[in-house]
Amino acid sequence: MAFDSLTEKLQNVFKNLRSKGRLTEEDVKAALKEVKMALLEADVNFKVVKGFIKDVQERAIGQDVMNGLNPGQMVIKIVNEELVSLMGAETTEIQLQPGSAATVIMMAGLQGAGKTTTTAKLAGKFKLKGKKPLLVACDVYRPAAIKQLQINGEKQGVEVFSMGDKVKPADIARAAMEHGAKNGNNIIILDTAGRLHIDEDMMTELQEIKEAVTVHQTILVVDAMTGQDAVNVAGSFHEKIGIDGVIVTKLDGDTRGGAALSIKAVTGRPILYVGMGEKLSDLEQFYPDRMASRILGMGDVLTLIEKAGAELDEEKARKMTEKMKKAQFDYEDYLESMSQMKKMGGLSGVMNMMPGLGGGMGGRKKMPDLDSEENEKRMARMEAMIYSMTPEERRNPDLLNLPRKHRIAKGAGVDISEVNRMVKQFNETRKLMKKLPGLMGGGKKGRFRL
Ligand code: GDP
Repeated sequence: MAFDSLTEKLQNVFKNLRSKGRLTEEDVKAALKEVKMALLEADVNFKVVKGFIKDVQERAIGQDVMNGLNPGQMVIKIVNEELVSLMGAETTEIQLQPGSAATVIMMAGLQGAGKTTTTAKLAGKFKLKGKKPLLVACDVYRPAAIKQLQINGEKQGVEVFSMGDKVKPADIARAAMEHGAKNGNNIIILDTAGRLHIDEDMMTELQEIKEAVTVHQTILVVDAMTGQDAVNVAGSFHEKIGIDGVIVTKLDGDTRGGAALSIKAVTGRPILYVGMGEKLSDLEQFYPDRMASRILGMGDVLTLIEKAGAELDEEKARKMTEKMKKAQFDYEDYLESMSQMKKMGGLSGVMNMMPGLGGGMGGRKKMPDLDSEENEKRMARMEAMIYSMTPEERRNPDLLNLPRKHRIAKGAGVDISEVNRMVKQFNETRKLMKKLPGLMGGGKKGRFRL
């Protein structure tokens, strides 16, 4: 998995820091030297690494240590924050045209980067959001590309517009606009031709398409496996045709991952999504903060202190731990834990924060898409079910017999099978919580040890 080796190296650096009581300037400098080596080995762009280390060093030396953190933790906190800002700080969505007008997206990239696959993946995402995308086959040089787009489009249930391989891409794009307008498509995605290397013909062709139709978003697809090359490619594309965002593919592979860390800094354009596999569902929204904590492999400490610390009610957490220990966890607590979980970035966010369980790309094989839209809807339905219980039922989960469950199902507007599923899940959670006594308990300092 991407970043495995970087994560391991960074963890070693921080482990050494942690064993120190007080940090001197020398300690910080020595640690950052190792961080620098680790980043370079992960194929992060040299200039980017230099700037990054400089920023961290300036902040780490001479900064007051925050209440509740030791100096070692403080350095990790800063490294984490700088990693997030390096990758763009905020999650960027593809900008859609307001109103009913269609948003036209042009996909660009070198051959083999994963452009055609990603185009179909993206169409699937838009479809899930209730849009009506149209895929347009503008790669006329590789006959297989048209076929590939058609096959993938069909799998996604999305229409593919093609005019074969004898018409110029700019003309195909123009015709596709008319077709899309007649057809009521509100997203039109142009799959363009790639070449093995950056060349003038490819750039000219992309420019011609841009002149022929109004392109609202130009998205570049780059292959993480190509490391620094991916970053150089992004730089050239941006310079020649102007890009709005980048999708980095093959981050599931055995790549060092440095491209993902450098692209924003080099092009000034954000990463929008990352490709995590060959399946059409393997496209994930890019969250700089989650990625940073995965890279550090210790999202536990910082993310919790920063994200949840301020918002979690200590007293509530303490009471809940007590209840859990006594196996008194009830549906009121279940509701509460769901709302706290939301604050901590969803279930996958929590998993990533838990030493041993998380680690995202590092520790686990593949993190299921726990925060998908579908899952959010499921959570909302679970909340509706709990709100349909009487206060007595919420406090005494064992009261739920069949007639009560039927009443709850009716109240929440769901099927009885869904109530049964939630009850089962609740019972499993209750069991799991008993096994994880440290998870919710204690004060800020004691809850997560570094
Ligand atoms: P194009 O030439 O840029 O259109 O590239 P393709 O879409 O044909 O993809 C090239 C190869 O990369 C195909 O075998 C894809 O299945 C594969 N691929 C694309 N995206 C990913 C990804 O995120 N992870 C992995 N492992 N493979 C990918």
